[in-house]
Amino acid sequence: MTEVEVSVTELAEMNDDERWMEYAMTLALKAQEEGEVPVGAVLVLDNQVIGEGWNRSIGHHDPTAHAEIMALRQGGNAVQNYRLLDATLYVTLEPCVMCAGAMIHSRIRRVVYGAADAKTGAAGSLMDILRHPGMNHQIEITSGVLADACSEQLSAFFRFRRSQKKALRLAERAAQTGETTSGNSAE
Ligand SMILES: [Zn+2]
Repeated sequence: MTEVEVSVTELAEMNDDERWMEYAMTLALKAQEEGEVPVGAVLVLDNQVIGEGWNRSIGHHDPTAHAEIMALRQGGNAVQNYRLLDATLYVTLEPCVMCAGAMIHSRIRRVVYGAADAKTGAAGSLMDILRHPGMNHQIEITSGVLADACSEQLSAFFRFRRSQKKALRLAERAAQTGETTSGNSAE
């Protein structure tokens, strides 16, 4: 990876955020290839990747194997410390309560997410764990970076999965009808 000198202007930070979010989206594709919901996360410290993760809950039989958790674990290993001070976590989907909790434990400085999650988002949508006034560590949040692209990545996956399920149902129905020639629609 090339070293990039980033001037600390808001614009530069914005472009940087987009660049890392694009990277997180490529990690989300790995989840998709493994039949998981496509969410990707990358943990960055001093403009270097120290952890990457993608959703692996199904494959790992692990409800905690969210992209963010995987990235935090790898990051902890990389710096040999469970505190990940000054790191920024980029994730394509707003973190859930569990991941927001893990971020607070890790003491990362900032989280940047793409698509908001009205149903389970714990960074401002459903609730705001990361900036809860009672929390002993506050995490800076930047939301909506490449939000449309991240959101479309998820929507496309769910559309595809619905169409697959429908095709499967139709195939099963066709097979049943073929076997019994009853023409039972079963609905
Ligand atoms: Zn999560």
